[in-house]
Amino acid sequence: MGKEYFCDELNNVLSCFHDRIMSCCSGQIGPVYYEKYRGQKIDWDAFRKVKEDAFSLLTEENIDKSPCKGCFFLRERRQSDKVSSNFNMLNISHWTQCNCGCIYCARMLDSKGRIDLKPMKSEYYDMLPLLKELYRENLLDRENLTVCIQGGDISVLKEFEPMVKEFLKQGINRFNILSNNIVYQPIIKKLLDINLVDYTTSLDCATREIYYKLKRVDKFRESVNNLRKYAKAKFGGCVTVKYIVIEHINDNVEEVKNFVNLMADIGIKRIEFMIDNKYVLFTDLEKTPMPKHYKELYLTFKCLCEEKGIMLQVWDKTKYILEKYVLAV
Ligand code: SF4
Ligand code: SF4
Repeated sequence: MGKEYFCDELNNVLSCFHDRIMSCCSGQIGPVYYEKYRGQKIDWDAFRKVKEDAFSLLTEENIDKSPCKGCFFLRERRQSDKVSSNFNMLNISHWTQCNCGCIYCARMLDSKGRIDLKPMKSEYYDMLPLLKELYRENLLDRENLTVCIQGGDISVLKEFEPMVKEFLKQGINRFNILSNNIVYQPIIKKLLDINLVDYTTSLDCATREIYYKLKRVDKFRESVNNLRKYAKAKFGGCVTVKYIVIEHINDNVEEVKNFVNLMADIGIKRIEFMIDNKYVLFTDLEKTPMPKHYKELYLTFKCLCEEKGIMLQVWDKTKYILEKYVLAV
């Protein structure tokens, strides 16, 4: 028998997207547990078999038939690798509604650019009943479960708070919640107080004018005020604020300096620097050089964060691009 392969994502992750329930969010269509899920009754034996079948194809002889073929998450299987009967990482991203309209939003096609202000049901399916069933079927690891909630925005999802409460009732290790931060959520403050959440938002600027250009809503003040409340939580250090660099809008040193100063004033301890994903995806960086001043932008972030005692995080993809196309030239 030839080599056997293993994927930790396949073993641990369940992702509930608006159009399907699948294994991972690797960017590759890996094994799918349920295509076009719309709240139907699930055959749980068939559901479990998807994982079993996916692993059975991870051998040298069968890899050509596997949806995982070519994925960089695959590695050679070790003796200690065991296929687990449940998941310890749940991605919830089953709705697309949002109360702002970021110009860099990857979901714009699904939400059709609509801005919704009131909490509502997902247009696709309800997560809460599915969540209860997943627990009932022992498919979620109650002790080690990490849940990432990231879809449209949580403030437009009616079942956001009931879902959080269900996790707290059934068992969870940690939440990872992303939001545009326009609406204050008392339950997030509570989770920050008991050190059960990493909360991430994207402010991307330090002024109301630039905020409006980026997000198409006039909510800069609300967002900053909400950050002040979260930063005061007992574990307010678990709040991360991103700065996504968008060419010709917020890619100037003055805005970066004002942003870091504002974060220090609010008491934010983590900042993430990110280059717009759309720009990275649709620009041939071998032929079109990155704007030269991105180097200065990044270095300004780095120096100012060090000076203010703020941790600067850089996402893997941005790190790779910075090292190859920005810092090396
Ligand atoms: S190998 Fe890749 S595509 Fe397959 S489950 Fe793992 S991360 Fe997903
Ligand atoms: S907050 Fe998120 S979901 Fe809403 S428009 Fe911006 S990027 Fe899209």
